[in-house]
Amino acid sequence: MPDTSLTVRYEPVIGLEVHAQLKTNTKIFCGCSTGFTVESNKNVCPVCLGMPGVLPVLNKKTVELAVRFGLALDAKVNLTSIFARKNYFYPDLPKGYQISQFSLPVVGEGVLKVETGEGGIREIGVLRAHLEEDAGKSIHDRGDFTLVDVNRCGVPLLEIVSKPEIRSAAEAAAYLRTMRQILLFLDICDGNMEEGSLRCDANISVRPVGETRLGTKTEIKNMNSFRNVERAINYEIERQIELLEDGGSVVQQTLLWNADKGIATPMRSKEDSHDYRYFPDPDLMPLVIDEEWFQQIKSEMPELPATKKQRFVKQFSLPEYDAGILTQQPDYSSYFEEAAACTSNYKELSNWMMTEVLKVANQEKIDLSDFKIKPKRLAELVNLISSGSISGKIGKEIFAQMLSSTLSPTEIVEKDGLFQISDENELSHIINKLLDENELQVQEYLAGKEKVLGFFVGRTMKETKGKANPSSVNNILLDLLNSRRK
Ligand SMILES: [Zn+2]
Repeated sequence: MPDTSLTVRYEPVIGLEVHAQLKTNTKIFCGCSTGFTVESNKNVCPVCLGMPGVLPVLNKKTVELAVRFGLALDAKVNLTSIFARKNYFYPDLPKGYQISQFSLPVVGEGVLKVETGEGGIREIGVLRAHLEEDAGKSIHDRGDFTLVDVNRCGVPLLEIVSKPEIRSAAEAAAYLRTMRQILLFLDICDGNMEEGSLRCDANISVRPVGETRLGTKTEIKNMNSFRNVERAINYEIERQIELLEDGGSVVQQTLLWNADKGIATPMRSKEDSHDYRYFPDPDLMPLVIDEEWFQQIKSEMPELPATKKQRFVKQFSLPEYDAGILTQQPDYSSYFEEAAACTSNYKELSNWMMTEVLKVANQEKIDLSDFKIKPKRLAELVNLISSGSISGKIGKEIFAQMLSSTLSPTEIVEKDGLFQISDENELSHIINKLLDENELQVQEYLAGKEKVLGFFVGRTMKETKGKANPSSVNNILLDLLNSRRK
């Protein structure tokens, strides 16, 4: 963490550039697959290799996904936008330019509403979001040579540029989390940071508090997790402040975050946009979205996470906290809603999801759509507990069994005879027998040692293999013990 005595005198100014890989089957300007393959240079054709004489053809799906994003952020969607060439030389960019959007992007200014820790909402401006193609990949760590894999050339990206309105590393991480959540609910990006389908670069500068001019910024790349985004930004804020405090000045450059060492190292001096010599791509007509299509996309917008969260609070009477967790990812909320259709004990269902279900799913790193226990079955288990047929403790045992069984919870209860014992006569009989066998403890209790009660509860549970109804046991135990007072 930065030294707080210095950070109070400086204000960090942070802008994020998020690259989201759009969920399409084929690339943005050709028919090559976007699917992952271990074989290098497999998903390529003359178009994405930039051979002379070929022509790019825009993938319509990418436009639809970009529009969906714009609508989600209440952004200005430009019904006419322009593709431009961004010129630079790099071995993994065979064309010598990247097709991107510059002066007129498909999505203009919008706002991302980010929940702050204190329950408030911070609105962070988004400057623009544009469509572009990804470049290939240079692999430098295999020996004294560099390998080039162009599978990713032409993979569709939406580059989302925030305004420089982020003021701390924690806020940057919150912005990114919210952005990812929205992309997932819009079903336009799989949000996988480790595999690079969601990438984030940060522009960072600092200035003395009260100063209105911006300081010189640096850009940090290669932060492939939320944690690393926070670490890298904090590192860079601290480095710049120390530099300024020592009388130095910040050099505009691009830095590469090294997560293992916890440092950022210079990669190259940072280019300005005029270095790229952007100009409209003569191979592509202006992108025109007709009003009818735009309205159709608008009418098909999915429910966004913030709306869903509030609906969960109202419809299922859940605490904000529960609703927040259950709407973190689409697979969570779908699972919950499917299960909620089969029970009325929503809070109990929510508890089971937040603890047992998510614990197992996180351990196994799986999507809840692949979870072994289907929503209906979890609801059935919740119902067995709510109705008093089984105890919560037995419920956990049944849950564990369900993870490796095809039986329903009711079938497991019947097979193993796990129904809860609430019958007073049966419990009185068991407890009386225990009291007879443990006269010493009975006397201790009657002499005022109330802790002994726990001993008897434990013995009753052991005797009934956990099936005794706990509240019945407590009541009967107290009655029977007190009846032994002389
Ligand atoms: Zn291709």
